[in-house]
Amino acid sequence: MINLTNKEIIELDKKYILSTYKKKICFNEGSDCFIYDNNGQKYIDCIGGIATCSVGHNNPNIKNTIIKSSSNILNTSNLFYSTPQIKLAEKLIILSKLNNGKCFFCNSGTESIEAAIKIAKKNTNKNKIITLEKSFHGRTLGSLSATWNPKYKEGFGSMIEKFIHVPINNCSKLKKSFDSDVAAIIIEPIQGEGGINECDIEFIITAKKLCNKFGALLIFDEVQTGNGRTGKYFCYEHFIDNYGEIIKPDIITLAKGLANGIPIGAVIVNDLIKLNPGEHGSTFGGNNFACSVAITTINEIKKVMPDIFSKEVFFKKEILALKNEHIKHIKGKGLMLAIDINLSAKDVVEKCLENGLIINAVQENTIRLLPPLTISKELLKKTAIIIDKSINDVIGKIANENIIINND
Ligand code: PLP
Repeated sequence: MINLTNKEIIELDKKYILSTYKKKICFNEGSDCFIYDNNGQKYIDCIGGIATCSVGHNNPNIKNTIIKSSSNILNTSNLFYSTPQIKLAEKLIILSKLNNGKCFFCNSGTESIEAAIKIAKKNTNKNKIITLEKSFHGRTLGSLSATWNPKYKEGFGSMIEKFIHVPINNCSKLKKSFDSDVAAIIIEPIQGEGGINECDIEFIITAKKLCNKFGALLIFDEVQTGNGRTGKYFCYEHFIDNYGEIIKPDIITLAKGLANGIPIGAVIVNDLIKLNPGEHGSTFGGNNFACSVAITTINEIKKVMPDIFSKEVFFKKEILALKNEHIKHIKGKGLMLAIDINLSAKDVVEKCLENGLIINAVQENTIRLLPPLTISKELLKKTAIIIDKSINDVIGKIANENIIINND
């Protein structure tokens, strides 16, 4: 890689990259949960490429698969059979426990949502899609119509018609919005970008019953919650009904951590759903390379998944033990965690960065952590200490600013 100075990187990015993101740092190296910037400064990576890096940077087994599969055919398109694609689909279907399930592969989260919307409309011959307030499903037009936050839609003209948003965990509003023209309801079992808001079991049971009653499909958007993030391979496995049965969706969407940072998306459907040749497609979807890396990633995720619940409990205890008066609440499941604070989340995220920790802000007063699932308890303890210090640094800064203002 060519060595560029920070100044050169910033100038070239400004010159050549469309500024759809606000950026701060350029990272050049990584090892498991650590990442190093252009000046060699070390950080604990508790955002992991926004949940894409599920089993750590530079994971040796992933590296071996990448080397092996990159020295063979990368993509033949879907005009031909692909062994890695079939093998990955088999693995996902077994993990999903969907009877006679089938997979469609694409390259990102938003594409998996687009596919799910098309599949739902085609299979039900209906038009209306229900999604939740505060939901995030992606940036392409179908997914953006499904997404709630009006700020992402401003200036982009008309959205796709007949998307309805209901508040999370509000069963009565959900009942009122259902009718016989509903094709599907799309649910993030835990809202990620919306601030780590969990669906409760009554809401999921109600959604499932309404889908059954009106002939609609239950879609779980597991783009962020899937791939072991919450301690089960799919987050929906946590939802158990009164008879002890897992509430199964009709369609699952996956992406992010499925291939540890290599772009891939997947849709898993149950045996009721059909598509015919030509009704949907993707040139790169299910390519040999991404599927081979995903197979190894799943094997690696399975190794660390049993420890995720105890890591969640440990980290929550560490945060509460800080007794920091600015921490209001810690929430989330597994290693999809967030902390509500009574300060600006952006200020705390910035201080964390200065103190060698990468996290991000998902709401005004909510910071989110999505570390690689390989993170140790020792590193989670250090993470809690840095968060505490960063909050105190923000308070110190505010106090100093007040002194200066009062002295003026
Ligand atoms: N769905 C959920 C729940 C997400 O969190 C995201 C991205 O953050 C998406 C869909 C869109 O995924 P992508 O950015 O890969 O298109």
